[in-house]
Amino acid sequence: MSCDHDLDAEYLHPGDADILEFYEADGGLRATLALPCPDCSEALELDLGVDTVEEGDFELPLSDELYD
Ligand SMILES: [Zn+2]
Repeated sequence: MSCDHDLDAEYLHPGDADILEFYEADGGLRATLALPCPDCSEALELDLGVDTVEEGDFELPLSDELYD
C-alpha cells in the first residue's frame, strides 16, 4: 500500500506527529517527522529542513499541552 496524497496543513495536527530524529546534512540541521496520512492513515515520514532558529516564547520543559 502506498500513499501519494497531497498533505494539506489544514488536516495536519502537531499532536498527531512525532519527531523521529534530528540529523545534519549538507551543513544544515534536518529532522524526520512521523505522522499518519490524514486521508488514508498510511504511516508517513517527512524530511524537514530547518531554516531559522530563534528564541521561543514558551515555558520549559515542554509539555504535551503546548501541542493541543
Ligand atoms: Zn494517503
